[in-house]
Amino acid sequence: MEGICILGSTGSIGVSTLDVVARHPDLYRVVALTANNNLDRLYEQCLRFQPRFVVLLGESQAEVLRRRLDAAGVSEIEVLSGTRSLEEVAMLPEVDGVMAAIVGAAGLLPTLAAARAGKTVYLANKEALVMSGQLFMAEVAKSGAKLLPIDSEHNAIFQCMPADYRAGQMASGVRRILLTASGGPFLRKPLDELVDVTPEQAIAHPNWVMGRKISVDSATMMNKGLEVIEACLLFNMRPDRVQVVIHRQSVIHSMVDYVDGTVLAQMGSPDMRIPIAHALAWPGRFESGAEPLDLFSVRQLDFEAPDEARFPCLSLAYDAVRAAGTMPAILNAANEVAVSSFLENKIRFTHIPETIKHCMASIAPGPADTIEAVLDADRMARSTAESYINRLAVS
Ligand code: NAD
Ligand code: MG
Repeated sequence: MEGICILGSTGSIGVSTLDVVARHPDLYRVVALTANNNLDRLYEQCLRFQPRFVVLLGESQAEVLRRRLDAAGVSEIEVLSGTRSLEEVAMLPEVDGVMAAIVGAAGLLPTLAAARAGKTVYLANKEALVMSGQLFMAEVAKSGAKLLPIDSEHNAIFQCMPADYRAGQMASGVRRILLTASGGPFLRKPLDELVDVTPEQAIAHPNWVMGRKISVDSATMMNKGLEVIEACLLFNMRPDRVQVVIHRQSVIHSMVDYVDGTVLAQMGSPDMRIPIAHALAWPGRFESGAEPLDLFSVRQLDFEAPDEARFPCLSLAYDAVRAAGTMPAILNAANEVAVSSFLENKIRFTHIPETIKHCMASIAPGPADTIEAVLDADRMARSTAESYINRLAVS
């Protein structure tokens, strides 16, 4: 049995992971669950999966959960709190695999801890990889951890790589990666109307149901930008060999273009349980609970090039990966601050790329050779983004 720790169990990926795990009770033992919100859901997960440990960010929330579990007569679950506990549960000896499904930079340290401890890392938390880049990949190589991509595109690319492929290797014979994107809710919206879109419109994704932050990222296409950086790292590719392709139907989840002209694509319904089940069962296969793909109802597959004027975040991400060093961490932090300000109605949708651009222009990147350097760049970009946003809000 594989001992599993799910970082971010109450989120969209966390819930889908538990759905897959519950289909294979003979294969998995849930050792630890962690969350920062949705106490009711976490409480239900505790009753159903009986983890050994649970981590909440705040001690007061942890105390509420302890009392509720006591009242329900459940005494074997240890409820911990704080960011350090996230790292500790990710490194437990009885944990074999860690699902990294916290959103944003908050997931970096526990995900890195899992990689350092040589666990199998199921990576959904793309921001952690984008920030720490080669540093993260070096830790994986050093500890011998297995790194399996959960992001549907990267999971698709992984599946199109040679059978014995391991993340971080240079796959021979690969010419390009074709990274598919749905284009989000605003692909056809007149450009001059983008300035007035609301958070509710931005999080209404046409094909996927996801957390709020990644949904806004899909609307700006920063999600695809982060994924370009993620692909460069996971598959050891230069950015000019990662081509974004808008594919409205979200049926092809990405492709690998080989030098002989072969293009391999992975297809399936847009259901995150598919890449989750793939990674959990790898190198085998098992049921995910997803509907089989019905090509007769899909009927047609469309492809188009992304429009840089509509999606400036995509170019910013290419700029960041080319600038290298701490620039991807700066891009990511500025984006996190801008997206949460947009979700709080403090700034407009079009202020998101503006804020990121400002941060990238005003902070000089340094080498990303230590985790402290990465975290410093993250802090600096957050404070620069916040002051820029405060100025926007008064003007
Ligand atoms: P979500 O917002 O639904 O869930 C996030 C989880 O992280 C929750 O359990 C939340 O409690 C926890 N969390 C949030 N802030 C935290 C903090 N500061 N400290 C500790 N825990 C915290 O997000 P999601 O959509 O499940 O996405 C999770 C990650 O997976 C993101 O990095 C996202 O980019 C990636 N991803 C998601 C999808 C998807 O379909 N949802 C697809 C591909 C990749
Ligand atoms: Mg994706």
